[in-house]
Amino acid sequence: MNSFDQALATSQLSLTRTTPRVLQLNLGKLCNLTCVHCHVNAGPHRKELIRHEDLERTLDWFEKTEIPTIDLTGGTPEMHPDFKALVERVRQFEKPREIITRLNATIINEPGFEWVAEFHARHQLTIIASMPCYSPENVNAQRGEGVFDSSISAFQKLNKLGYGTDPALKMHFVFNPGGATLPPPQEELTEDYKREMKQHFGIVFNDLYCITNMPIARYASYLKRQKKLAEYQQLLMDSFNPASIDGLMCRDTISVDWQGRLFDCDFNQQLDLTLDKNPDSRIWDLDLEAFSKLPILTASHCFGCTAGAGSSCGGTLVAAS
Ligand code: SF4
Ligand code: SF4
Repeated sequence: MNSFDQALATSQLSLTRTTPRVLQLNLGKLCNLTCVHCHVNAGPHRKELIRHEDLERTLDWFEKTEIPTIDLTGGTPEMHPDFKALVERVRQFEKPREIITRLNATIINEPGFEWVAEFHARHQLTIIASMPCYSPENVNAQRGEGVFDSSISAFQKLNKLGYGTDPALKMHFVFNPGGATLPPPQEELTEDYKREMKQHFGIVFNDLYCITNMPIARYASYLKRQKKLAEYQQLLMDSFNPASIDGLMCRDTISVDWQGRLFDCDFNQQLDLTLDKNPDSRIWDLDLEAFSKLPILTASHCFGCTAGAGSSCGGTLVAAS
């Protein structure tokens, strides 16, 4: 039994699936940035992208389900050559779906991507965008020089199109700590962010999601270089909060990688922990009835989701204990 399962057993808890609510599709590892906290090791030279025919098969499968949301991740999803066709196809489904894009806002200012802001508004995509601080120094240190100014100008463009004010155009920000600490309370930080972003840049947004940095991939290497990896892992274990289990995203999410392979979450995807330890299963063959009975694969990194107030793609899960 791994240390996370032991923690669950000690609290007399188990991790079970609920009805799938989100299909989280990773379109590939291509990105114009190389952020230090990136858990997918994305970057400008990565070649892994979902193939056109696999994307078609994935959407054929998705269309037949009742899953209400598709959550597009990467890399930078908009850099996939089929991004626009994907969105247009989902918008033609008989049953309407929410389409989320995990937007790296700087892409809006890259040559060749001038279409992004207007396209997203026209297709009413929900935007979830990383904005790890409201001060330039911290953002540039974590995400790269110039990222702060580029993100600010992108959010201003999105605001002009109605994002953050039109109820159909939601824009949420993601905060993740710069150091090896847990995020501060989400409610308090939301107030600070709303005030500072409005006052200094005239930017409005909907919600702020505080996400705990996961000590895997590039972020684990970064902590290792800082000689802080063991200390951070211990902090996550010591902060285990049983009340976070109910809201864990692996309970209602199906995570798919650029090859169509299946995972319990994006983190398991980066660790190559395939669903039910079966690397051959693909989303287009998935039987949801059988899926509902499969165990969720856990390991010590799961403490990253259950520390303090808990953490998921939608921010914190409970009040910190
Ligand atoms: S964190 Fe996002 S924007 Fe940064 S390198 Fe990774 S995928 Fe790209
Ligand atoms: S890392 Fe994945 S499997 Fe583990 S608790 Fe978090 S969401 Fe669930």
